[in-house]
Amino acid sequence: MKKNVIRILFFGLIVVACSTGINLFTDSDEVKMGQQFDEEIRKNSKEYPIYENQQVKDYIDKRIFQHVLASPEIKKKSVYNYQLEIIKNDTTLNAFAVPGGYVYLYTGLIKYLDSEAALAGVIGHEIAHVERRHATQRISSAYGLQIIASIALGNNPSQIAVMAANLFSGLGLLANSRANEDESDDYSIKYLQSTRYYPGAVKFFFEKMRDENKVSSGGGGVATFLSTHPDPVARINTTADRLNKLGLPIFSWTHVGDGIYRTEYKRNILDKMK
Ligand SMILES: [Zn+2]
Repeated sequence: MKKNVIRILFFGLIVVACSTGINLFTDSDEVKMGQQFDEEIRKNSKEYPIYENQQVKDYIDKRIFQHVLASPEIKKKSVYNYQLEIIKNDTTLNAFAVPGGYVYLYTGLIKYLDSEAALAGVIGHEIAHVERRHATQRISSAYGLQIIASIALGNNPSQIAVMAANLFSGLGLLANSRANEDESDDYSIKYLQSTRYYPGAVKFFFEKMRDENKVSSGGGGVATFLSTHPDPVARINTTADRLNKLGLPIFSWTHVGDGIYRTEYKRNILDKMK
């Protein structure tokens, strides 16, 4: 009888945990999941062909990715295994990140952007998904009860990693929520503030899409490196509001001046990708 009461209390606590957004995964679970996922990507070269131009990869990695990563606002550099990879697919304007620090950019996105700042903004956004543990948070609230039940029933704790890997194998859970996207946009500004890049550059991609009529307010248009909700136009406005509150200038994607690095992007990336 007593045992049952304890069990009910235990499950009650878990329900509370899940509904309040507590993450059931450890940092080392995240790293393990990321490694497994990265292995899957590399095995699946048909869907995820790795981009072979080492010169361009090195430039983006050393000059932009590592530079953003050096921001003191990024706290888990020594915990997660931050790595950049580029997927060769010129028609996909996309980027994504998986737990544990793996960030993937599509060549389509790189070729669409036209400044180092714009790419740094996207990279900051993707790093924020990792740092803020968005994927495992979503898994925790969606599958928390199931995971805990399996542990409570005496299964091996490594079950968590196995289940998470299964969930990821379909890529379905990589879709971020509206709140996750918004938080990552916000953190991109925070991270970029200590870099050579214009802090508001996360909105450049959306602005270019909007100006070229590739998106419409309401979330239609091309699938983006970020999900289509909240809609891109709303995200431009939210980012502008944040810059305003921080006392930072509001530049658009066509801005020429300090912190943008358009010439460098063309010379070292775009011209080398032709
Ligand atoms: Zn995102």
